[in-house]
Amino acid sequence: MAEETIFSKIIRQEIPTELLFQDDLVTAFRDISPRAPSHILIVPNKLIPTVNDVTEDDELALGRMITVAKKLAKEEGIDENGYRLIMNCNKHGGQEVYHIHMHLLGGQPLGPMLA
Ligand code: C5P
Repeated sequence: MAEETIFSKIIRQEIPTELLFQDDLVTAFRDISPRAPSHILIVPNKLIPTVNDVTEDDELALGRMITVAKKLAKEEGIDENGYRLIMNCNKHGGQEVYHIHMHLLGGQPLGPMLA
């Protein structure tokens, strides 16, 4: 059994956060340390530590993460100019929280991907 992270508490709304979306599969909230004018995290409610741990059973939740990203990008008004979706995996990917999450970043030109 994987160890819970702070994201499980956010999903259960046990700690304050700016919750933007929640349904039976995913939760979205503003990143506590925004790296762009819009910086939102979209997470599956189920604890999956890394992308390496994803299975076919998770495909519905992972698909939902994308459709929620699209919806929130529109609500943020960043859909036309564009945005970036990122999932970091493990140490070299820069993953800090071991509960998979998608970063939605936008609101300014983001530059080349690895800059
Ligand atoms: O992809 P990575 O694991 O590096 O990203 C974790 C993200 O979770 C960071 O952007 C960090 O600011 C965010 N975070 C948060 N609220 C917390 C802890 C971390 O938004 N309580």
